[in-house]
Amino acid sequence: MERQRQLEQLRDALRSACPDMELREGEPMANHTTFRVGGPAALMALPRTVGEARTALKTARELEVDPFFLGNGSNLLVPDEGYKGFVLKLTGEMNQTREVNRRLEAGSAVLLSRLARAALGRGLAGLEFAHGIPGSLGGAITMNAGAYGGEMAQVVTAVTCLTRAGELETVPADRCAFSYRHSAFSDGSRLILRVEFSLPLGDPEEIRAKIEDLARQRKAKQPLEYPSAGSMFKRPPGHFAAALIDQCGLKGLTVGGAQVSEKHAGFVINRGGATCADILSLVDKVREEVLRQTGVELEMEVRILR
Ligand SMILES: Cc1cc2nc3c(=O)[nH]c(=O)nc-3n(C[C@H](O)[C@H](O)[C@H](O)COP(=O)(O)OP(=O)(O)OC[C@H]3O[C@@H](n4cnc5c(N)ncnc54)[C@H](O)[C@@H]3O)c2cc1C
Repeated sequence: MERQRQLEQLRDALRSACPDMELREGEPMANHTTFRVGGPAALMALPRTVGEARTALKTARELEVDPFFLGNGSNLLVPDEGYKGFVLKLTGEMNQTREVNRRLEAGSAVLLSRLARAALGRGLAGLEFAHGIPGSLGGAITMNAGAYGGEMAQVVTAVTCLTRAGELETVPADRCAFSYRHSAFSDGSRLILRVEFSLPLGDPEEIRAKIEDLARQRKAKQPLEYPSAGSMFKRPPGHFAAALIDQCGLKGLTVGGAQVSEKHAGFVINRGGATCADILSLVDKVREEVLRQTGVELEMEVRILR
């Protein structure tokens, strides 16, 4: 009850502080996750400018509400009952790419596929790996997203963000603490606004060919025809999660609408009508069986919004 009252106060305060900022109440999170599951978020704000984002953060802090920063929801599971909190999703000027001092700079809401195409358009190499990852740049920095030998850590020079108190901060790459699917932003302490890259000039035809080749490899190996959040589990040291799950005979294991993909055992897919409860129950079964048969404890890579 207390939380609901706080959120109502926040909504009213945001309406008067930022009359142009879009606010949504009871927004279905299934529309904001690539798994296509998740109940409503009590309150969602969609700032279009840095000024709006800063006001949203400061106002939330004054009312002691902790916002959740949403990217493209491609590494996220939201419970069926929804999220009784405040979600911030950046748009507008944070969804633009530009060149500053001959360096590519992009807003955190830009999708990685678009970012990779922007680099290609300027003949810049190094972001080919990112083209097939269905996240936003903010989520990719947070997760240090990577594939096929590339990862964000290799191409970033600086990240500009807002602290939860609304202070602007630029974090150079050597202070981003990038490691496997982790960064200094993983603790949710800062809202990423934009990212600056250092990319070498390359041959546009070679860049395009690499993007197309990686897309073919993904299509052949991953169940892209179904909603999912990509790899469900982190790579356990010395192993591959998909190989362990396959070895334990769990491909095709199903709970309700959720299934361990037949095509790639590391993916849990929504075969239609899956609930978050189906997915979590399937994840528990997989973890239990892999632990029983191999002694390896699988850790979830996908985050749960609670
Ligand atoms: C089919 C498929 C294939 C995939 N393949 C890969 C792959 O090859 N490699 C890989 O690494 N991942 C892969 N993923 C997972 C996912 O795409 C990445 O983790 C991606 O980086 C998540 O970005 P997002 O914007 O969707 O983040 P979200 O899922 O929205 O959020 C993830 C985390 O980032 C935080 N976050 C998001 N935006 C911001 C921001 N602006 N400021 C601060 N924090 C923020 C969130 O709070 C959350 O903690 C795949 C997913 C799918 C569905």
